[in-house]
Parts: sequence; C-alpha cells; structure tokens
Amino acid sequence: MSQQIWIDGKYVSKENATVNVYDHGLLYGDGIFEGIRIYNNRIFKLQTHLQRLYKSAQAIRLQIPYTIEEFTKYTEETVAKNNLQNGYIRILVTRGVGDLSLNPFACPKPGVIIIAAEVALYPQEAYQTGLEVITSSVIRNHPAALSPKVKSLNYLNNILAKMDAIDAGVGEAIMLNHQGLVAEATGDNIFAITHTPDGPVIISPPPHAGTLEGVTMTVVIQLAKSIGINVLRQDITRHDLHTCDEMFLTGTAAEVIAAVKVDGRVIGNGKPGKITNQLNQLFRDLVAKDAPVD
Ligand code: PMP
Repeated sequence: MSQQIWIDGKYVSKENATVNVYDHGLLYGDGIFEGIRIYNNRIFKLQTHLQRLYKSAQAIRLQIPYTIEEFTKYTEETVAKNNLQNGYIRILVTRGVGDLSLNPFACPKPGVIIIAAEVALYPQEAYQTGLEVITSSVIRNHPAALSPKVKSLNYLNNILAKMDAIDAGVGEAIMLNHQGLVAEATGDNIFAITHTPDGPVIISPPPHAGTLEGVTMTVVIQLAKSIGINVLRQDITRHDLHTCDEMFLTGTAAEVIAAVKVDGRVIGNGKPGKITNQLNQLFRDLVAKDAPVD
C-alpha cells in the first residue's frame, strides 16, 4: 500500500494528496506546523509538540477544529496506518481555503494534514564526523515582527539562510539576529561549549534571541542537568562561536549533531567534542527506551 496521508479526516494516497490552490497556507504561508519523531513505535514528545502547535495557533488566531485528544488519536492512527516503527511526522494546519485576498476570515475552515514518513536531514556520516557550518548573511526575522516561537508555514527566512550553506558547500547555516547575536540554525537550535578548569560551560541563546523553543533543545538541557551541567541561556556572539571548544545543534529531524568547523575555524580538535558525544549518547539512550517519553 502506498503512503497514506491524513487530510481533513480522510486518508489519501501520497500520489493523490493535494491542496486547494486557494488555501491560504499556499497563497500566503498562513498556517503552522510541527515535526515529530517516531522511535521504536512511540511518538516522541507528542504532547509537547501538540501543545506548541496549539500555542502557535493561538498566536495567529487560528482555531484548530479538533481537541488535543482528537489530534493525538489522528496522529497515532496515521502512524499505525503507515506501519512506521521509526520515522517522522509532519503536521500542518493551514488557514484553509479562502479567496485571493489576505483576509483570513474569508477562510471558514482550517485545513489539517498529517504526514508520516521516513526522514534523513543530514548524511549519516555527519553524525560521526560532525558538520561544517557557516554563519549566514541572512538575519533571523525580528522577533518583534513575527515571533520565531510561532512555527509558521513561512520558512523563507530560514530557506534563504539554508541557500548560503548550500552555496558554501557546508552542512548548515547559523542565523544571527537583528542585534548580530546568534539565534539558531535554519531548522535547529544551537549550543556552544567552553571547557574551563571548573568544568564545561554550555550556552544556548536565550528565548528572546529569536529562536524557536525546541523540543529537542529542552530535552537536551534536561539531560545535561542529569549529569550535573547547567545549560546557560545567554547571548552568544559570532566570536563566541569562533572560539568555543565544542558546538552542537539539536532538532527533531537533526537530533543531536556536532559542528566541527564554523566560518573556516576548526572547533576543538575538529572532531565532535567529549561533552557533545556524551549528550548525544544520553539522547540516543532516552529515545531507545521502552518507557513512555512524554
Ligand atoms: N529552530 C527552528 C527554526 C526549527 O525549524 C526547528 C525544528 N522544528 C528547531 C529550531 C528545533 O526544534 P525541535 O527540537 O522542536 O524540532
């Protein structure tokens, strides 16, 4: 059976899964989404992701036509229908079908789509060797214009930065915010580690830097705490990135991945660092566990 996609309560095969050209999700990027992992038959942090989805909806005045309980059920059913033990779920809620005007109130009913599929964001070897990254010339959207906490269907800002990475022949681009401070990667959060005589200091940009509050980031911060390391949410400059001892990125699709070169500067010894590897292992152990993970 071909891949089955849940669209507004019905399963449609991938080949026939289409959206209306008057959907404001398509016309204006007016909508929200989530990306969620399936590990060993379990949906990782489903409730946390759904809560973020409903918060994004609230922020853009979009009324999701289902309760969280119903959404949970539909998501689980879509995963089961596609017989996926491991993979990735993409949930989209669009403003729905309207007219050509910007007016969102012309769209009477939001469109809901649940895709369950396989995923591979970075090449497998990059998880052993680490990524080379650059800081992008593209500045992250001003958080006061549209909060990056809204996981909106408009990723143009991030896509323009991703082009910088592709042009430079590197794996990922780090975006600075309107103040020139580090915000995040195009689809991942960022952590920088400095080794001090008192132990490692791990820093990730504060929520106001222009970042999405990543589910994976939050999990990794808890894992660091479990081994006695407090992650500081503090401003990071480009200079800090150029001179740190370890760097890594986190995201649902990315998981935990080291960066070993930034803007041509080798980080540490050019290999994934000790603390990064330790946190990565803790993350792997967590997602491999049989216990519920929400
Ligand atoms: N920042 C951006 C811009 C993202 O798109 C993502 C991926 N959804 C993240 C960070 C990481 O968030 P999460 O760990 O919740 O996937």
